[in-house]
Amino acid sequence: MDTSPIIRKTAADLRLAPNFADYEGERRRFSWASVGRELAAQPGGALNIAWQAVDRHATGALRDKTAFRFLARGKPPRDVGFGELARLSSRFANVLAGLGVARGERVFVLAGRIPELYVAVLGGLRHGAVVSPLFSAFGPEPIATRVNLGAGRVLVTTDMLYERKVAKWRDKMPTLEHVLLVAEDGGSSNIPGTLDLAALMAAASDESTVAATGAEDMSLLHFTSGTTGTPKGAVHVHGAVATHWATGRYALDLHADDIYWCTADPGWVTGTSYGIIAPLLHGVSSIIDAEEFDAERWYGLLQDEGVTVWYTAPTAIRMLMKAGAEIPRKHRFPRLRFIASVGEPLNPEAVRWGKEVLGLPIHDNWWQTETGGIMIANTPAFDIKPGSMGRPLPGIDAAIMHRDADGTVTPVEEAGIEGELALKRGWPSMFRAYLNNEERYRKCFAGPNNEWYLTGDLAQRDADGYYWFVGRADDVIKSAGHLIGPFEVESALMEHPAVAEAGVIGKPDPVVGEMVKAFVSLKKGYEASEALRLELLGHARKRLGAAVAPKEIAFLASLPRTRSGKIMRRLLKARELGLPEGDTSTLESGS
Ligand code: AMP
Repeated sequence: MDTSPIIRKTAADLRLAPNFADYEGERRRFSWASVGRELAAQPGGALNIAWQAVDRHATGALRDKTAFRFLARGKPPRDVGFGELARLSSRFANVLAGLGVARGERVFVLAGRIPELYVAVLGGLRHGAVVSPLFSAFGPEPIATRVNLGAGRVLVTTDMLYERKVAKWRDKMPTLEHVLLVAEDGGSSNIPGTLDLAALMAAASDESTVAATGAEDMSLLHFTSGTTGTPKGAVHVHGAVATHWATGRYALDLHADDIYWCTADPGWVTGTSYGIIAPLLHGVSSIIDAEEFDAERWYGLLQDEGVTVWYTAPTAIRMLMKAGAEIPRKHRFPRLRFIASVGEPLNPEAVRWGKEVLGLPIHDNWWQTETGGIMIANTPAFDIKPGSMGRPLPGIDAAIMHRDADGTVTPVEEAGIEGELALKRGWPSMFRAYLNNEERYRKCFAGPNNEWYLTGDLAQRDADGYYWFVGRADDVIKSAGHLIGPFEVESALMEHPAVAEAGVIGKPDPVVGEMVKAFVSLKKGYEASEALRLELLGHARKRLGAAVAPKEIAFLASLPRTRSGKIMRRLLKARELGLPEGDTSTLESGS
């Protein structure tokens, strides 16, 4: 636990009366049933995320208010109001109906942050389809793996992404019937075996009935990575909308007049829960920038768009810090009033940097794909201890678990003890399954009546109830906020004819948190060389995409394995970092 001085909240930090000011009182008074009453009653007693987010605003006072302002270099901003968003998502729902897509069927979306992505996600939910947004920086292999695991029937993507990443792999995705393309030049696309989305949208009606989904009906499928095996599809339900609403209020302090910017891509859960759903629920206008990180551009957007609430990530903050103090000095942010960050540990220096450079402290918060929404957060209601991820939000009970030798887990009462972070089940956005993997799901729960969800993170709680992240309990890698499964990277490397074995670790990196590093041993007849190293880097990048591929590859004569044959990534990491090797009793001799 860091001993940095506490950042006391001042009136300057809270430029507006916050939604959340009394931590203990609000936690006592809170109930999920009362949040349910804050959501508008959907006709027929149904609960559909798209209706709550868009339709209920679309005919009322917010009809002409900007829901999303889409920004892209070299193009004028495109403002889409709540009314227009409802019409567009309705059209998209009609497109799906016209293709015979039934409720519960899977619609994948692979695109940059363009308007069509947002319309497809909301239109898919409205239709009652299950939507799975994929990250456009994925390579063909992660895309095909996920579409197959999720039995994708429809894929919405762009003509360029299709040609680069999907076309050649299409016959490896047997469930995929319809590919709807957005022409990146703004015209129409005409690729055999695909449909032009613009033409379908133009022919579809503005009117559609919102699917009468219930709270337990499946809404979104987000893939996440584990240590072994294929990615896991975390199943989310429409009822999750209650968490999105509550956390938008408590952890992001959203107010009706905000201009909000969530920098996350919808290919990751943050970009969906908080880049699409939560701001819309609160009737807030968001900006959405199609461009990649650029310090000058980002400070410019914060200033020129008058952003008031900003939700970003530690890697982006560290990149801004690295870009120096000159650029922010040229800008003014008088409207900015609340900054939050998620995805990886936020260093105390970054929290303080926010206060110095942007004039506001940065509120770190914690959650994961499985939780569907923010669980533990620094909020306007209490002072910040830099380096801590904050305290459990109203409606969330967290605990640090102790695991006995026989595997029984029990909550630790004392402060300052390291253990596995767990959450008591009962919050609405908890994932309901790992798709087709009941056993893996069951293993996430423990305690009497399986009431505790084990998060896979190690943490500590201090005497004031603040939680401090310690590390992951498994070998997954967090790079630039993205969770990467070492197995997926190892498998892609193993497909190269020269590679005999591969082991992948996260190597600490001052900017992206962890960088993907691979160790490989070669098959007989191949020799380690710089040319082969570059070839392997290129091979992995082509298959996996820039977001997942290793940045470094090192050759080893053989990889350390346990006697049962598992590659000991922990040992590879310890050796790489010059740390003690720990318990090596299961190490195969000679490794
Ligand atoms: P994902 O499911 O991709 O959103 O990744 C979730 C994981 O990211 C968590 O289980 C943590 O390991 C890590 N994480 C998320 N937020 C934080 C945070 N504020 N501090 C430290 N680690 C975090």
